[in-house]
Amino acid sequence: MLIFAENKSRIAHMNIVIIGAGAAGCFASIEIKRLNPSAQVTVIEKHSKPLAKVAITGGGRCNLTNSFANVKSLEQVYPRGFRLMKRLFHTFSYADTYAWFENEGVQLVTQDDECVFPQSQNAMEIVGTLLRLMERHKIRLFTGTEAKNIHFNEGRYEIETNGGTLSADKILVTTGGHPTAKGFEMLSGFDLDIVQPVPSLFTLNINDESLKSLMGTVVENAQITLVGTKIKSQGALLITHWGISGPATLKLSAAAARILAESDYKASVSINWLNGQNDETAANMLRSMAAKNEKKQISSAYPTELNARLWKHLLDRAHISPEMRWKELQGKSLNMLVHHLTNDEYQVTGKSKFKEEFVTCGGVALSNLNQETLEAKKYKGLFFAGEVTDVDAITGGFNLQAAWTMGYAAAHGICND
Ligand SMILES: Cc1cc2nc3c(=O)[nH]c(=O)nc-3n(C[C@H](O)[C@H](O)[C@H](O)COP(=O)(O)OP(=O)(O)OC[C@H]3O[C@@H](n4cnc5c(N)ncnc54)[C@H](O)[C@@H]3O)c2cc1C
Repeated sequence: MLIFAENKSRIAHMNIVIIGAGAAGCFASIEIKRLNPSAQVTVIEKHSKPLAKVAITGGGRCNLTNSFANVKSLEQVYPRGFRLMKRLFHTFSYADTYAWFENEGVQLVTQDDECVFPQSQNAMEIVGTLLRLMERHKIRLFTGTEAKNIHFNEGRYEIETNGGTLSADKILVTTGGHPTAKGFEMLSGFDLDIVQPVPSLFTLNINDESLKSLMGTVVENAQITLVGTKIKSQGALLITHWGISGPATLKLSAAAARILAESDYKASVSINWLNGQNDETAANMLRSMAAKNEKKQISSAYPTELNARLWKHLLDRAHISPEMRWKELQGKSLNMLVHHLTNDEYQVTGKSKFKEEFVTCGGVALSNLNQETLEAKKYKGLFFAGEVTDVDAITGGFNLQAAWTMGYAAAHGICND
């Protein structure tokens, strides 16, 4: 009991600085105060407004989490950090996020695609809720205050900012993603491994006028493979006026974020337009279509997965005249068509942003951190949470879920230490 009392009094005077008033930082600040109401918590934010990114998430609607009902393995949604997330979800999961916000009066809805939004469809409700709680818990928030450097001196941290130096017993770094190494300069005094940051979640530019002329075409279940690798993704594919987008493309960009960065976004992708069907199944499907449509022109009937324009494009690529009769689809032309249906290769010439949404692949290496508390193994009292770490996800509410979960874990790490 005595030890408990000593700990309690040490915590009571604890001075904690959180760097970055984003999703992870603000959430953690509230959790810290709930665990230790008398701890002094200061959040500093370089921009004039806190939670500015949360305000624009989900196109202003804030896709704050996901039901995970369609998630077969966490590796699919967290290409970086799935093991850590698996561990931390035992203490703060999707269901906990859902309950947390509903307890604070935010009604949530789960869409058919399992993405969770506030019923108001307004991200500002999430921002307002977090800021109201921060105010209620008397958390100090300094906006326009940028951390420039951090020093560790005789068991205390000093944070140099543009507005002076702050001193803290413990600090939590929640500065979000930075697609360049510059964003990690303030940590240069620490012996921490930083995984080189590169962007994730982007669409692919493909310089093929014939493909781009099909813009607006959606194939509900396509499979994209990065040629020369085992990296594949599956889902809806949207053809755009610059190349390809949609969930399948974004998932591929996440899985292949580093390899694509290394090749300066020049690569080959192979599209299977038939949901990953193999050549034999595709050939059988075409043979049965030929039997049903013998005398008809080949352009007049097409697989249900495609539309007429995409079918015509694939016939062109297979050097098949649209006037050819179905019964003539044999031998080489059959093989060519099967090839383009299941393994249609295009050259990627660059990347583009997806609705201004992107996340960072890379950051503070997870090997630096205690996997339960997110405290740096080498530096007592230095914690990390959110996108600043080498954790990122595909779209669907998984990135914000990572921010809430890691914010929660770090808060508990800070208070239970
Ligand atoms: C347009 C867009 C839409 C998105 N939509 C969704 C979505 O709907 N669902 C989803 O799950 N994810 C979405 N994401 C991703 C998600 O927003 C992030 O993964 C999440 O915000 C990360 O939280 P964080 O707290 O780690 O970082 P952030 O929320 O980015 O917060 C970091 C904060 O730290 C501040 N900061 C940085 N450096 C310093 C410094 N040196 N000193 C002081 N302050 C500093 C920044 O200004 C920022 O406010 C979206 C991303 C974008 C760009």
